[in-house]
Amino acid sequence: MRVTPDKLAEFRAEMPLAEFTTIHLGGSAQYFIVCRTVDEIISAVSFFQTTGFPVFILGGGSNVVFPDHGVRGLVLKVELKGIRLDEQGDCTVLVANAGESWDDLVKLSVEKNLAGIECLSGIPGSAGATPIQNVGAYGQEVKDTIISVKALDRKSLDIIEFSAAECRFGYRRSRFKLDDRNRFVILEISYRLIRSGEPALKYAELRDYMESKKLHQGISVGDKLGAVREAVLELRRKKSMVIDPSDPNSRSVGSFFVNPVLADGKYGDFLERLKRYGLGPAPSYKSEEGIKVPAAWLVENAGFRKGQRRGGVGISTNHALALVNYSGTTKELLTLASEIEDAVGDKFGIKLEREAVIIE
Ligand code: NAP
Repeated sequence: MRVTPDKLAEFRAEMPLAEFTTIHLGGSAQYFIVCRTVDEIISAVSFFQTTGFPVFILGGGSNVVFPDHGVRGLVLKVELKGIRLDEQGDCTVLVANAGESWDDLVKLSVEKNLAGIECLSGIPGSAGATPIQNVGAYGQEVKDTIISVKALDRKSLDIIEFSAAECRFGYRRSRFKLDDRNRFVILEISYRLIRSGEPALKYAELRDYMESKKLHQGISVGDKLGAVREAVLELRRKKSMVIDPSDPNSRSVGSFFVNPVLADGKYGDFLERLKRYGLGPAPSYKSEEGIKVPAAWLVENAGFRKGQRRGGVGISTNHALALVNYSGTTKELLTLASEIEDAVGDKFGIKLEREAVIIE
């Protein structure tokens, strides 16, 4: 098909992107469209296939950093709305379209007394992003509740339904983030929630907080889910991990780096280095995949501190893992990120992985 100016005119040209992201960075999209139906997505994706221009899929914008010079091709914002609750025995299946706000889903589940995602309160972004990196926090991960994910294959334009096993979930990853990166547009996710289930209180920080405030004593199961949600929101607010226009520290993508999981040999090498530098023990947690070490600890012990500034960007005053845009540029942000990566690599022999999606 020849690319006609008429067809391109259906797309908004030179759309500034910064306001579509929680970190408020980046230039303009050459072309931009908001899609509210699956047909609109298919039409835009198939047309852009004929142009040869790249297509970038945007959800809630909470985990993406656009370049200062903008994005060539199309930025397609998925705003598929719609929620369904299907009763199945003791469970309720929450079926959500990808453009639903994630935190609205968590709020709804807690209000309906459905357990399974209460610890994932206050995470910005859309439901569609959750299977991509197997979003998790405070002892829960979406892989624990996801039954299936429907996605559009951008090449064949087929809609495929993946079971949870087929999503190949791991710590902050899935097939959609690794082997099949940029291949699919997530359309719909089904989460299995337990009716009147007990909240998950596996995470020490959350449990301690609930205990210190006596939040879970003498209340019904339904109220317990609400209490956990409030506690998680409070913990996240303290770390500026809830988007709040009045909190300049929350102009971020949340955690910029993934907490590294070290295999045995790597962990041994890390312990050797701690000895060599005369550093006390680092916090560490056993997981199925190895030993997890908090990236924030590595950042602070590699010579950076909370509140440190570099021009218009810096490290949040409330969490060393959040890089914040106060009034800066993507170039400044990525320079700071590289500086941190180099320092952590040199000192601890650990290569930090960026959790944020950085668009070139
Ligand atoms: P944190 O509580 O300082 O914890 C840092 C690291 O230590 C994480 O890897 C965490 O594992 C691990 N950890 C802490 N307590 C643990 C325990 N009792 N058992 C097992 N592992 C433990 O982390 P934070 O940066 O303030 O974040 C709070 C929570 O939000 C964490 O669960 C973090 O993973 C999550 N988070 C998730 C995303 C995301 O999914 N994109 C982004 C930002 C933060 P886990 O990661 O397994 O919890």
